[in-house]
Amino acid sequence: MEQGNLFVISAPSGAGKTTLCRRLLEQIFGISFSISYTTRNPREGEFNGIDYHFVTQERFKEMVSADSFLEWARVYDNFYGTSKPEVLSRLELGEDVLLDIDVQGARQVRRLFPGTILIFLLPPSWSVLEARLRGRGSEDSSRLKLRMANAKSELEAVHEYDFAVINDDLLRATEDLKSIVIAQRCRTPRTLARQGLWFPTQKVNQ
Ligand code: ADP
Ligand code: 5GP
Repeated sequence: MEQGNLFVISAPSGAGKTTLCRRLLEQIFGISFSISYTTRNPREGEFNGIDYHFVTQERFKEMVSADSFLEWARVYDNFYGTSKPEVLSRLELGEDVLLDIDVQGARQVRRLFPGTILIFLLPPSWSVLEARLRGRGSEDSSRLKLRMANAKSELEAVHEYDFAVINDDLLRATEDLKSIVIAQRCRTPRTLARQGLWFPTQKVNQ
């Protein structure tokens, strides 16, 4: 069986990754989200095992030592990591997997799996990014400043990504994301692996 596709979505904090990932998962079948492990505290409305697996620093370090992460990184003052067994088992079953991880994590994953599809989500402008971050109400003013400053260097990484989606209008940005997933599924080797070659053909050597 053909392995599933691995998709990574990255963006500066507040650009809309969480919102868009949720919409994508609601609207497309055969793709699931990898819930990361983090040492940060839950925000209001976040639940353990749904948004993240919230763990202590000690537990996180144990997991690093046990080689339980596909990738992990320090982002701001916290650690974040992607569960290796969770992702690998789903890919092996032929399911597509979506990771919402930062640029450092995306680079690590691409090194391990060169076929990973990297998607960068761009806010339409600085002012919109700041307004969204402020509007979410999750950061105090010093953390908000830090996130805006970090956004500058994070945005430079867009050139390393396969796709860039502008999150201005939510409906359109969701359609863009869905198109990327569907296009990947329609790649010739994927289609043939699913359908088999039922018609006569001569393979042309290139
Ligand atoms: P991230 O996960 O990238 O940090 P969120 O998904 O939490 O970002 O979005 C930050 C804020 O911006 C949230 O309050 C969300 O409702 C809002 N938001 C996201 N996308 C849009 C959009 N296209 N238009 C307006 N508001 C948006
Ligand atoms: P937040 O604390 O706002 O949920 O996320 C902060 C940053 O950490 C975001 O850029 C998010 O993509 C990133 N992140 C979330 N989970 C992981 C992960 O498992 N690994 C890495 N490298 N980054 C992550």
